[in-house]
Amino acid sequence: MSDDLTDLVRDLERRFADLSLAHVTAWKAEAPGRKALGCMPVFCPREVLWAAGALPVFIRGGGDQLETIRGDAYYQSYICHLPRSTLELCLGGWLDALDGMLFPNTCDVIRNLSGLWSSVAPGRFSRFLDPPQTYDAPAAVGWWRGELSRLYLDVCAMTGTRPSDEALWASISAWEEPRGALAKLSRARAAQPWNLPADEVYLLRRAGDAMPPREFTRLVDCYLACAVARKARREDRIRVVLVGAFCEQPPLGLLRALERAGCYLVDDDLLLGAEDLVEPVDAVGDPLDALARAYLVKGAGSSVRYDEQRARGLELARRARSLHADGVVFAAPSFCDPALLDQPRLTRALDEAGVPYTAFKYSEDTGQFQSFREQAGTFSDSVKLWGRA
Ligand code: SF4
Repeated sequence: MSDDLTDLVRDLERRFADLSLAHVTAWKAEAPGRKALGCMPVFCPREVLWAAGALPVFIRGGGDQLETIRGDAYYQSYICHLPRSTLELCLGGWLDALDGMLFPNTCDVIRNLSGLWSSVAPGRFSRFLDPPQTYDAPAAVGWWRGELSRLYLDVCAMTGTRPSDEALWASISAWEEPRGALAKLSRARAAQPWNLPADEVYLLRRAGDAMPPREFTRLVDCYLACAVARKARREDRIRVVLVGAFCEQPPLGLLRALERAGCYLVDDDLLLGAEDLVEPVDAVGDPLDALARAYLVKGAGSSVRYDEQRARGLELARRARSLHADGVVFAAPSFCDPALLDQPRLTRALDEAGVPYTAFKYSEDTGQFQSFREQAGTFSDSVKLWGRA
């Protein structure tokens, strides 16, 4: 690994490990009046926040670095871990760099968390975002535009920014850059996963959770240039797509365990939200209308979007084929209703398409990876022995 790449990855690791969001505090200190707004997975209207002068910051729980004690007191045992560690972060002052929080209607758990938030962070800006669940009704665009508009005006009032269409268009254009860079990263990873290991790619994408768009684009370009030049040896591993880990994140060690067990992760749905639109926003007409339309029509499919055409399973099978994946690994957080309720439908489509798969559950604070490694290793061996997709 070149010195540049070693340093870059070390920086990414440091940033990932910093739960106190020192990089956000530093960004705010660079100019008076800057604000930062946290957003829970899996949706954040970053263009709107950025146009209003606020840095969007995805909050994806405390991972395996935080002992959750007080956060546990708020939830029953049969709820996923993410809201507990997020409350722990808030109660422990780890989120003090943020000037508010957004809660998209990802699931009941996040919806309930938005209500709890007003008692643990009283007086701080907080907003529940409820995107429409139907996508082609004209009324859905109008309604969603109204929600985004209200949010824009409120955040502008908070930051002291004058609302304008120019600022919105500039922000929409700014966020297309990291989307383009991430698409390049995704293609490079699928083409040569031995040069772009899953843990590095993940750390890089996590950095984008709290970084201005241009800065993040430069970072991705820099990583890509170094990574494809490293000429790592290609190993006899199977190519897999990871599905279901879009909200509560698996520990980094789990991603490493999967690759060490004989898999190349060529695609995943981790960090959904930061990778939200599958096509650019149409830059015509009213910017908020264009954004609302883009979200509804061009939003990435996921288990938290109503699948009106019931096409998600077919789409997954198609995606696996187009990436020459040998199989699919379903990795869902324990008690995650959206991921686990979607799984039977997806596996049925994979069965019909003849794509092998395996499934397991994790928690963000899982500390032992041996069983995952054994399961992934067995899956890899069986695919090699008895046939690839
Ligand atoms: S992990 Fe699943 S159940 Fe938990 S907050 Fe996220 S989407 Fe909801």
